[in-house]
Amino acid sequence: MTTPLIEVENLYVKYGNIEALHGIDFSVGEGEIVTLIGANGAGKSTTLMSIAQLPPPEAPKIFKGDIKFKGKSILGMAPDKIVSDLHLALVPEGRHIFGNLTVEENLKLATYARKDSQADIDRDYKRVYSLFSRLDERKKQRSESLSGGEQQMLAVGRALMSGCKIIMLDEPSMGLAPLLMYDMFRTLKELNKEGMTILLIEQNANLALKFAHRGYVIDTGEIVAQGPCDQLREDPEVKKAYLGG
Ligand code: ATP
Repeated sequence: MTTPLIEVENLYVKYGNIEALHGIDFSVGEGEIVTLIGANGAGKSTTLMSIAQLPPPEAPKIFKGDIKFKGKSILGMAPDKIVSDLHLALVPEGRHIFGNLTVEENLKLATYARKDSQADIDRDYKRVYSLFSRLDERKKQRSESLSGGEQQMLAVGRALMSGCKIIMLDEPSMGLAPLLMYDMFRTLKELNKEGMTILLIEQNANLALKFAHRGYVIDTGEIVAQGPCDQLREDPEVKKAYLGG
């Protein structure tokens, strides 16, 4: 078996004195779509923030365990290096775009740490605008005046403009009308077919388990089930607790 891109090993994290993850283990292989599902407060966002190595106070403190990228520990690595050197980007919940900047300024900011050529960057601009034609039409618009769905597209577009090869998405369906939500997932599938590795967290477990290849179920900071998504969809416990019976 080849070494997974991301390995989370026996990870314990806390916010202040409150432990949020109690020794979780999972992996993401190159080219896979992996999903983490679980109820509110289970620890899904905490897990992604830990991998992105966001600094406190936003992010939790890792006090035991390891996070590896291609077999090497990345604990303590600066968050900007995670993006520029590992090509690993997080699209956080709530989007965090710069509202007073235009669409194209937001996209441009995401390219600042790239080490590849302008031609590569230009190719990615084209790609983002072709995947999300609404962004193309709204290049000069201030981002705060975009709709929720368009802001979500911009958040994903920004990750792509960072040159990422692995994208971690925190609830990309949040606040999207059904049609836009399916569009978003179709786009993500297309990116995956082109080689993008995806780690997705989703409240909508039905959707996530149809979209991903493998899944892990988190319950109050622990992994309680895992496997290929078609298997998880048939698991009686998973069905009862997360898929509406
Ligand atoms: P949701 O689906 O509601 O976003 P989640 O599975 O992503 O939930 P987390 O946001 O990771 O869950 O939260 C895990 C636990 O950590 C929860 O008990 C939450 O209250 C706690 N927590 C999250 N952020 C902080 C913080 N900044 N300070 C203190 N506790 C926090």
